[in-house]
Amino acid sequence: MIEHFQLKLADSRMLAPTVRHLAFERADGAPFKFTPGQFIQIHFNYDDGKPTKRSYSVGTPAAASEVDKLELAVSFVDGGAATKLLGGLEHGGSIDASGPYGRFCLMDDDANQRYFLIATGTGITPYRAMLPSIAKRIAERGTRVALLYGARNEEELLYGEEFEAFAGQHPEFTFHPCLSRAARAAPRPNDRRGHVQDVLPELQPHPEHDIAYLCGNPDMIDANFTLLKELGMPIKYIRREKYVSSR
Ligand SMILES: Cc1cc2nc3c(=O)[nH]c(=O)nc-3n(C[C@H](O)[C@H](O)[C@H](O)COP(=O)(O)OP(=O)(O)OC[C@H]3O[C@@H](n4cnc5c(N)ncnc54)[C@H](O)[C@@H]3O)c2cc1C
Repeated sequence: MIEHFQLKLADSRMLAPTVRHLAFERADGAPFKFTPGQFIQIHFNYDDGKPTKRSYSVGTPAAASEVDKLELAVSFVDGGAATKLLGGLEHGGSIDASGPYGRFCLMDDDANQRYFLIATGTGITPYRAMLPSIAKRIAERGTRVALLYGARNEEELLYGEEFEAFAGQHPEFTFHPCLSRAARAAPRPNDRRGHVQDVLPELQPHPEHDIAYLCGNPDMIDANFTLLKELGMPIKYIRREKYVSSR
């Protein structure tokens, strides 16, 4: 059910030079209900008083259907209205929000052998929220998961250590950082140079056994959608969340 509520900023930190992690609590003290993969909208006014809204994926790793903290990763955009609001919000500050929205979620009746989770930038956020559900699927069905994450360099691999740690605990989960501009100072075995679509064929997507999720930059999503179709993946097994600007 979609609700409107106030969020209070409880904590924050910079994840990368232009990406801020924000942890909110509902101002009324109620838990936040969502399914991993969903997003919220924040509601605010432009400087001229005109109302507007922006969407942000919820990144809180959720073992249950409700969480105490609503965590977002916000990438700063030059001149962006929401960037100004969320980039400058101080601890204790409030914003208006509504949600949850969206269906970019793992489905209960998925019977696939492997998931491809593919992202660039803050598009990684919904997969962070899904980690506890992924752990459950691995334990119950032996599902395999390959996370391909495109970033320009090491410093822009958001939550990289969390995904590395999860992969270390779950051999069925592999994490493939795809670095387009510079390799890590100390490269790891699954690191690759290039864009995610350059690396995807190496993992041999299977038309009947795999389901792919694509999240983040619209150009990246289109490139990978086309590639997956060319590799024979049925459209129904390619799920997309495009971070389009919602002005
Ligand atoms: C379902 C959904 C989920 C989303 N989740 C997230 C999320 O988890 N984290 C996140 O950071 N964003 C997310 N977005 C994008 C977010 O909603 C905003 O569009 C983004 O934060 C920019 O808002 P802004 O008000 O700062 O910039 P705006 O005021 O909207 O734009 C300022 C200028 O920058 C341009 N611009 C806007 N976005 C970009 C961009 N990405 N790259 C380059 N130029 C741009 C605009 O065209 C405009 O010229 C999501 C979008 C959708 C639709």
